[in-house]
Amino acid sequence: MKTQAGDLLAVHGGTPVRTNPWQDNFTIGNEEKQAALAALDSGYLSLFEGSHTPDLPFSFWGGPWVQQFERDWASAYGARYAVSVNSATSGLMAAIGALNLGYGDEIIVSPYTMSACASSALVYGAIPVFADVDRATGSLDPASIRAAITPRTRAVLVVHQFGIPADMDSIMEIARTHDLKVIEDCAQAHGAKYRGTPVGTIGDVGVFSLNVNKTIQTGEGGVCVTNDEDVRYRLALIRNHGEAVVEAAGYRQIENIIGFNYRMTEVTAAIGIEQLKKLPGLNQTRLAHVAALSDALARHSFLQAPPACCHGMQAGNCGCLSTYYVYPLRFHSERIGISRATFVDALRAEGIPMAAGYVRPLYLQPIYQSRKAFKHGYPFTAPENAESRPNYERGACPVAEVLHYEQMLINEHVRPPHTLEDVLDIAKAVDKVERAVRAGRLASAVS
Ligand SMILES: *Cc1c(COP(=O)(O)O)cnc(C)c1O
Repeated sequence: MKTQAGDLLAVHGGTPVRTNPWQDNFTIGNEEKQAALAALDSGYLSLFEGSHTPDLPFSFWGGPWVQQFERDWASAYGARYAVSVNSATSGLMAAIGALNLGYGDEIIVSPYTMSACASSALVYGAIPVFADVDRATGSLDPASIRAAITPRTRAVLVVHQFGIPADMDSIMEIARTHDLKVIEDCAQAHGAKYRGTPVGTIGDVGVFSLNVNKTIQTGEGGVCVTNDEDVRYRLALIRNHGEAVVEAAGYRQIENIIGFNYRMTEVTAAIGIEQLKKLPGLNQTRLAHVAALSDALARHSFLQAPPACCHGMQAGNCGCLSTYYVYPLRFHSERIGISRATFVDALRAEGIPMAAGYVRPLYLQPIYQSRKAFKHGYPFTAPENAESRPNYERGACPVAEVLHYEQMLINEHVRPPHTLEDVLDIAKAVDKVERAVRAGRLASAVS
């Protein structure tokens, strides 16, 4: 192969493809500033009251911005109810509490996701059981869920990982057959659709994150959605010192309504209202970047672009819409003859950050390895959980392990405010590294 000018790899002292810095997730503009100022000017930074108080303007349901934000969110998603919270982690815990899960219950979760998906079960004394993920999408594999079901299984917590919808028809079918609750973690899937339906509204509760890295953000924040009136009330009780109000309200199902404070401030809600309006535009930019990048990388057989949905189809054919919180690629080292680490180092030198793997499978964390979440080993040692012996050994979820340790590459810069030109630097650098490998100028032992 002919050597082109500028082909000396940066890792060998050549000029990097890109020297411009990448930007953080800046989504906040004048609209959010004005909205936050209006909430500040009102003088009331929060209008939550822990009881059903007659002392207006304070309310068990929060103030005008919180309530408006929830109405806007519910209507954007076609859900009956939205309940704002102060993070998705709080939202996951509230969902588990609201669905009355706890000691003696097993909750099937993905190991290849954010830690709160499993630790939220532990907080209520339930046991996370890890099922494996689908190779193509990174979300729970229905066959593996089926294999993980025991007489104690009560719920599946499914994550629409990387913004690619999980296989919800199969998962809901399993849930119906085994009478399981379904929680959808949509922290990475704002605006994603499964067969035309927004993710988050298919299971019993959907949970979204508004932390500073997510597609839309309020710094910290989260939202739960549900179509069930009782679940909505339970979420609201858990969010807002539930124990203070159940008696007055005559509410009898008090298990799990111990009452935390997961309340969102008025200022946060004001920012959230504006961010929600920007979601379609932000997603459109992200989707255009992903489409162009996947096109540009298509000629490299050692790289596998993310699918549009859980059926591996292209967007549009089945009503599924992936919204790619990050851009996940699979790397096939045997098709290029260098290791993933060598490839990643070469790309980094070219100015292209690429994470090797996403997160270590959760069961390899100390909590699960030692089976100690709380004092005395609770909840693993609770008598109600004595029958639960989930597999937390290395090898428990082989697909998640292959993805993490061998195949997965993650780039987060497909998001705005980057431009198409920025994003295509990724493809330029990949082309350059690939040329060097084909020309024998970059080699490594393939692990
Ligand atoms: C970010 C994230 C969370 C946690 O969100 P917070 O709002 O930071 O608590 C939960 N699940 C997934 C899949 C996430 O990506």
